[in-house]
Amino acid sequence: QWIFLSGEFVKKEDAVVSVYDHGFLYGDGVFEGIRVYSGNVFKLSEHLNRLYESAQSIMLKVPYTKEELERIIVESVRRNQLESAYIRVVVSRGVGNLGLDPKCCSQPRVIVIAEELSMFPKELYQRGLRVGSVASRRNRPDVLSPQVKSLNYLNNILVKLEANQAGVDEALMLNDQGYVTEGSADNIFIVKNDTIYTPPVYLGALEGITRNAIIDLAKELGYEMKEAPFTRHDVYVADEVFLTGTAVEVIAVVEVDGRKVHEGKPGKVTNHLLSEFRKIVVTHGVQ
Ligand code: PLP
Repeated sequence: QWIFLSGEFVKKEDAVVSVYDHGFLYGDGVFEGIRVYSGNVFKLSEHLNRLYESAQSIMLKVPYTKEELERIIVESVRRNQLESAYIRVVVSRGVGNLGLDPKCCSQPRVIVIAEELSMFPKELYQRGLRVGSVASRRNRPDVLSPQVKSLNYLNNILVKLEANQAGVDEALMLNDQGYVTEGSADNIFIVKNDTIYTPPVYLGALEGITRNAIIDLAKELGYEMKEAPFTRHDVYVADEVFLTGTAVEVIAVVEVDGRKVHEGKPGKVTNHLLSEFRKIVVTHGVQ
């Protein structure tokens, strides 16, 4: 396996970084997770735009143009001869000293890891997820925008820990007003009376690339699709609930805080969107 690290492709065993890298010391950096379907990198330009916007927001200069980084990503897939893959792109502030001031870091570090995808088990899609709402919150938009995919995902890890402690598969996050925002690394949708709803991102959710693809797809398929705030109650009484994300694609939620949704089975709108999504991913990529 070849990994792109600081300007060159190196073997996996040799892909090591300094303990003085501020990505490691402070979580100072940004990242993206991207899927490859049949050798095509899905929605690459959207992921690159989000990466560069995350970097811009934290005053981090990616040392490549988008075109250069696109070529590096595509080359990572080619070199590793991957058909179905997951790519992790990391841009860290780079090596500095033990002080946290980014001024001491002279060269941002870029890492691209492309590896064989370990798919979530099929049973999970047939069974659906059990989720629970948690107390932990994502970053407040007035401090660090939830649109920044920073290397400091500690809030999301706290959320995941809470879900683990509660014995559920995934967590449901709320904002300070109690509106539902997203999962630990996925966006949420509900279906009620044949209309599909997802929270507007200004409530405090990441503008997921899968989310946006599903919004477009739902409209193309003729569903009524709305971006509107909703509460936990709306989720409890929804006809269907599902999550979307680069890793999970589209996955049904069948239980929320102990309340069964759709009699505890994945619903037909969810299944329809998942099967249509799997059709479009193959044709929407960069080769
Ligand atoms: N929300 C959060 C907090 C995430 O980290 C992710 C994953 O990137 C998502 C939602 C889903 O976004 P995407 O569909 O772009 O993977």
